[in-house]
Amino acid sequence: MDLFNLYSDLVCKNIEYKPNVSFNLLKAGYWLEGNVLSKFKEKDFLNSQKYLSKISMDFVLEPMQHSSNSALVNIFTPCEFLHAMNIYPQFIEAFSSYLSGAGCESAFIDFAEKEGISDNFCSYHKAFLGAATSKVLPAPKCAITTSLACDANINTFRAISKECGINKYVIDVPYEYSKDAEEYVEMQLKEMVSFLEDNFNRKLNEDNLKKIILNENKSIDYYKKFLDKLAYKYYPNTLTLEMYRIFATHAFLGHDKVLEYYRFLLEDIDKCREVEGNRILWTHLIPFYSEPLREIFNLNEDNQLVICDFNFDSLIELDVDNPYKSIAKKLILNHFNGGYDRKVDNILKMCNKLRIDGVVHLCHVGCKQSFGGAYILKEKLESNNIKTLIIDGDGIDKRNGNDEQIRTRMEAFLDIVEKEKRHDRICL
Ligand code: SF4
Repeated sequence: MDLFNLYSDLVCKNIEYKPNVSFNLLKAGYWLEGNVLSKFKEKDFLNSQKYLSKISMDFVLEPMQHSSNSALVNIFTPCEFLHAMNIYPQFIEAFSSYLSGAGCESAFIDFAEKEGISDNFCSYHKAFLGAATSKVLPAPKCAITTSLACDANINTFRAISKECGINKYVIDVPYEYSKDAEEYVEMQLKEMVSFLEDNFNRKLNEDNLKKIILNENKSIDYYKKFLDKLAYKYYPNTLTLEMYRIFATHAFLGHDKVLEYYRFLLEDIDKCREVEGNRILWTHLIPFYSEPLREIFNLNEDNQLVICDFNFDSLIELDVDNPYKSIAKKLILNHFNGGYDRKVDNILKMCNKLRIDGVVHLCHVGCKQSFGGAYILKEKLESNNIKTLIIDGDGIDKRNGNDEQIRTRMEAFLDIVEKEKRHDRICL
């Protein structure tokens, strides 16, 4: 057994009877990875990549180290208010991904299932529920989620709130945009701030909020400039880095460290070259642990993983003088909300902008959201000459990945994409 397996095994063995030991092992492992091991593994990374990897680890560790100053959030929770109040968001989907990175997601998932959670439930939520209900993860102060994208969030947050005895707030996001819908969400955001003030016994400073909003707008400005340049460049990417970027496009957008990341990103793209390889856009989650996918996409100029749709679902600048209203509007207009055509149109637009050759969509086990419209997406993209592959798998639970099938299908798909490109060049 190698050291990594020994470590994972120790975390898993202690979940039930010595949860504190598991927790301390996780914290120590993450610290070691973020501060020591990454320096060796990431020596060839660009500045923006090293920095993103480091701050992502910080964002996972901070709420673990300061649980009484943290709040549970999901990917769509508007965390601008938390940053302005110096509260650490405990981003549950990211935490579950890190459990998978530590090789112990299955033990936490099994724990949750043993406690009665259905095996059909999304693995991100099961892993997090396992960590919370086993008491490995200390209870944060409170929890905030949204109704956006799927109902797993509400069920998970309800269960954790009950199990850990903490208050929760759910932002109900209407399906379609209208002035009334915007006002409805704006009113809830104000209520959410009062909820935070009550739970943390401190007031929101509106000037701090303005600073966060300005950071957010500047970050989006840098990111859009990066994307303009990315259309003609090869930015070396990995499956994991693309998933880390979700910290910067969601829960930590507006944070000083994230603004710094976007600054590095824009500097780095200027150093990148143009390359002829296949340009791939990924929709939904990326099984970053999959060996065949790592071999095919990681730092490979023949098959560039250009972007994942979680990283452009809502590139909307905010009105610094009307933060509540504009955050409300941004939530409603997110491409994971509303009719499926909103998402499909946004993906097609990004494919055209980034000169994408092929799209890969993951149907994540237990996720109706990713299964539901998969063929609508494929039909629309292919009618616009963009080859699309739909694969089944799981973003974090390695037991649901089928490596050899994924390798065969992906290689065959990339061959087709390559041939189409050659054909198009000859026809031109
Ligand atoms: S993967 Fe699907 S089921 Fe899981 S949280 Fe995301 S949208 Fe919900």
